[in-house]
Amino acid sequence: MVTPQTQQTSPSPLDIIVIGAGLSGLSTAISCALAGHNVVILEAAKELAEIGAGLQITPNASKIFQQFGVYDELEATAAEPSFLQVRRFCDGKILSRTDDFNGDMRRKYGAPFWDLHRVDVQRALADRARQLGAELRLGARIADVDFDGPLVKLENGEKITADLVVGADGLWSKCRERFLAMKGQSDSPLPTGDLAYRIVLKLDEVDDPVLREWISKPSCQFWIGPGAHVVAYSLRDGYMFNIVLLVPDNLPANVARQPGSLDEMRQLFSSWDPVLNRFLDQVKTAVDKWKLMHRPELDSWVSEKSNFVFVGDACHPMLPYLAQGANSSIEDGAVLGNVLAALDAKSQLPQALSLYEQLRKKRSEAIVRETFAQRKDFHMVNGMEQQARDELMLSQLGTQITTRFPSRWQCPEVQPWLYGYDAQKETEAALREAPLGRARQARSVDECRR
Ligand SMILES: Cc1cc2nc3c(=O)[nH]c(=O)nc-3n(C[C@H](O)[C@H](O)[C@H](O)COP(=O)(O)OP(=O)(O)OC[C@H]3O[C@@H](n4cnc5c(N)ncnc54)[C@H](O)[C@@H]3O)c2cc1C
Repeated sequence: MVTPQTQQTSPSPLDIIVIGAGLSGLSTAISCALAGHNVVILEAAKELAEIGAGLQITPNASKIFQQFGVYDELEATAAEPSFLQVRRFCDGKILSRTDDFNGDMRRKYGAPFWDLHRVDVQRALADRARQLGAELRLGARIADVDFDGPLVKLENGEKITADLVVGADGLWSKCRERFLAMKGQSDSPLPTGDLAYRIVLKLDEVDDPVLREWISKPSCQFWIGPGAHVVAYSLRDGYMFNIVLLVPDNLPANVARQPGSLDEMRQLFSSWDPVLNRFLDQVKTAVDKWKLMHRPELDSWVSEKSNFVFVGDACHPMLPYLAQGANSSIEDGAVLGNVLAALDAKSQLPQALSLYEQLRKKRSEAIVRETFAQRKDFHMVNGMEQQARDELMLSQLGTQITTRFPSRWQCPEVQPWLYGYDAQKETEAALREAPLGRARQARSVDECRR
């Protein structure tokens, strides 16, 4: 079980504008509010969208939910997979299986692996941010950022200043566009070559007893095949089932999302495991196709005047093949707030943001690279390389995996650095080595809640 954390607060409160109320922006808002700063979140959407599908929250982020004070609420709605399994696409042959996966995660990393509905996470974080005093302004679309001020210009002409602006506006980030333009540069989201179909089924709409068993007993299932893979897991304590089909991108270049044809989707998987096809039989309406995009690495995440910083997909979008986009965005928010809790004076902001970048940039970019490596290992075409992969996986079946493993979800080399990351401990250790200022006051999370 995760132990209760103490929360430091800065004696020098900053006015912070967070642009975007996605998971990175909301995490930043909570963490900065807990650190004693004044936070305004500017979100373009008129309401926090009730759309979304499943979200795998790994121990590196579920641990942070304890610090944020949303752990108990989310635990009530989570599905915790009792095993994780990787199957061959065509016949469903099990290539790898980790039993007691949930127990293994809690034992190794001191926090759970949860499968959650994205809406539940977003709602819990937004409520918590407001409860801590953050102001959430909806329908507030940013048109420009002036990095001298910093000054944020809204589309309605309104101008707002702050001590610090946080760019949390996602893959299509306006902040990133303006940040690069200031340096005479530009970039745009790049296709990864893959797209995703995202499906959510409800237990009470499924009659097939075999499928009902799959849904109501949470597990995490993969099927891997040539150029494609599928991940499926339960949500909402086994009352919902999330299926993501990851296939080659055939959307037009300028289209990021489009309703897909049911026939096309079924055709793509017609030769796959009959159980998967029984799940796809349950899908009655067209499912959206989402182009999976990424972006080049940025030279820096912090503005020259140290009054602007990036978090989340705006600075490190990735393939969802390790389910780390949101998890690493939550880490960003937590680390930024933890560092800013140590601020004794505004003059320390450059040092604080530099420490944040040092703690976050290398790790996030390593995760991005690992997501592409996971694609390579999951999407191998049939042939000698694929046979060697399958033999390696089968050689570890029923035993403790002891070798570098094609599924990073279970790999003894990758899993520890991915899931074992502790945002609070990392920041504390870095601050011990390079303190920003003198001793600070500490208060418990319970005090912050009051
Ligand atoms: C198929 C798929 C499955 C995934 N599964 C997982 C998973 O299981 N686990 C996981 O960790 N990650 C997963 N991810 C990745 C994850 O969803 C993202 O990495 C994460 O949500 C990024 O959060 P963000 O807050 O940085 O960006 P976003 O969620 O994109 O939020 C950005 C916000 O900024 C707002 N905004 C944009 N422009 C402006 C503007 N000009 N002014 C004001 N506001 C603005 C937007 O409206 C939005 O609310 C998945 C992604 C995909 C595509």
